[in-house]
Amino acid sequence: MRIAVISDIHANLPALEAVLADVERESTDELWCLGDVVGYGPQPNECVDLTRERTSLSLCGNHDLAVLGAIDVSDFTGDAGAAARWTTSVLGETQAGWLRGLSPSAEREGCELYHGSPRDAVWDYVLSEQVALISILETTAPLVLVGHSHVALGLGWDGVELSGGLAPEGTELNLTKGRWLLNPGSVGQPRDGDPRAAWLLIDDVARRAAFRRVSYPIQETQAAIRERGLPDQLAARLAQGV
Ligand code: ZN
Repeated sequence: MRIAVISDIHANLPALEAVLADVERESTDELWCLGDVVGYGPQPNECVDLTRERTSLSLCGNHDLAVLGAIDVSDFTGDAGAAARWTTSVLGETQAGWLRGLSPSAEREGCELYHGSPRDAVWDYVLSEQVALISILETTAPLVLVGHSHVALGLGWDGVELSGGLAPEGTELNLTKGRWLLNPGSVGQPRDGDPRAAWLLIDDVARRAAFRRVSYPIQETQAAIRERGLPDQLAARLAQGV
């Protein structure tokens, strides 16, 4: 089976559309989303509708939970809090209802999925080798998928040594040996210095993973952010990929 994995869309519709077009060219069997469909960006309802329509598995993230009131918005700093409050004010009933039915973790054959990490599926960031190793050791599946940090990662554990790390565009991994923790990076707000939208292609028969990046019209998202009166920094950072 060929699986496309996306995460952290953050209401960035042009980025999501560009990724879905790239995914279509790869004739995948399933599309999985690791959460944070909304928050930060200007088109939450459109992104929820498209994600709901296209994915066969979706997790919720901390931003999704905040706009639903399931976690406290005061846990968020400045721009994130302002965007969460705005998102709550415009989110449709149907879209909120769908998000409410999602969980921050899930399991599929040979794979465990978390928005954050196995230690805390909502809040924990896997951004160091130490946390990656803890995450691998706290799970049993050959493959562990996480989102949340907006940084594409691929780390392998052979029982003795940890290998891998950052996974820029073009990174291809052979998953045959050992166990792996992968983060596809973010569709709608990448933070690894590459502003292009990120996604991950997994072939669970060939046991291969490929990290992909797609250009999208960033200025369209930036214009929409400014039109809605969302914090300007949320628009500016998209051009830098930070
Ligand atoms: Zn996020």
